[in-house]
Amino acid sequence: MDINVNLNIEPFNNWSPAGRDFLVIAGPCAAESEYQLLTTAAQLAEMCPPHIFRAGVWKARTNPDDFAGAGEPALKWLAMVKHQFHFPVAVEIMNEHQLKLAADNGIDYVWLGARTTINPDAVNAITAAVVRNNYNIPFFVKNPITPDLNAWIGAIKRVNNAGITKIAAIHRGFQSVYAPPLRNEPMWDFPVKLKCLFPELPLICDPSHIAGNADLIAAIAEKATKLDFSGMMIETHCNPDKALSDSKQQLTSQRLKCLLNDININKINTSRHTLPSNDYVDKINTLRQLIDSLDENMLGTLAKRFDTVKEIGELKKNANIPALQTSRWNELLKNRIEVGNAAGLPEDFVNELMDIIHKYSISLQ
Ligand code: PEP
Ligand code: MN
Repeated sequence: MDINVNLNIEPFNNWSPAGRDFLVIAGPCAAESEYQLLTTAAQLAEMCPPHIFRAGVWKARTNPDDFAGAGEPALKWLAMVKHQFHFPVAVEIMNEHQLKLAADNGIDYVWLGARTTINPDAVNAITAAVVRNNYNIPFFVKNPITPDLNAWIGAIKRVNNAGITKIAAIHRGFQSVYAPPLRNEPMWDFPVKLKCLFPELPLICDPSHIAGNADLIAAIAEKATKLDFSGMMIETHCNPDKALSDSKQQLTSQRLKCLLNDININKINTSRHTLPSNDYVDKINTLRQLIDSLDENMLGTLAKRFDTVKEIGELKKNANIPALQTSRWNELLKNRIEVGNAAGLPEDFVNELMDIIHKYSISLQ
């Protein structure tokens, strides 16, 4: 993917509920019944009113025998939630028909799920329908199931190409053998890269589908707040044990309230509207100057190391000795891990760093 992709995104607080910079989106994985939706909404309204209420009306299930959401009737129940509790409402859509039903029934926000984002044809068909019907509905685009940043960017670009400028990305983790004990591997460098490429694109974290387990959600949510995400989508159910889908990962509204207190959600919202103190600005500027000069020294040292590597390469070539000598490398790595350890650097980090340096050194020889 051409990294020079341009997106035309409207500032988040132009279209987020009440112009907020940080959102909490809560509600059940699936819409099951009128009672379940209204009870969940009532409990949330009492404990920790979300800025958007979510529910999966149509669920893309792996197993066709699993509960797939209550379907079209649930749109009326969501209209009741909207009317009684004044929450804007969001649903997942997978095709043009669902988009139309959602828009015609007053759904405020839609999202593309991980299984739709990965399918360019589905995204094209949905976005073409947005253009044809002249809808002005914001889109949340979840990351695709597989760890492919370009597929995620491609889906966002497709939505944007259709003239939709109210877009946010949702990070829900990636299917991976390395995910356990989590359900989906977060691969945090993907959302960070997305944020660096498109600073104007709001990023929401879905710690529920990353964690897959209610006990692991808080740590993921905390990590996301440190990475400056613009909100959380957290599955909440009036009776998680009896939920018809994703029962292990859904929180009660009481538990959601504790989680939001722990990550200090109110502080996040106020801090994003307040200018930092002069003391903070002075201190951070000094530390950043130090980082700049340390990086300059580090890169200078690396350049000298690679010049030396080239000299060694010449020497080996003239002596007919192959560039890769595993015994020397194993010895060197062992020593660097010890040196790193003595300096307080974790073994994994030193291993990874030396691996990058070694690969480049071999390519130079
Ligand atoms: C969901 O949010 O209910 C959902 C199915 O998520 P995902 O598309 O991330 O699996
Ligand atoms: Mn779910």
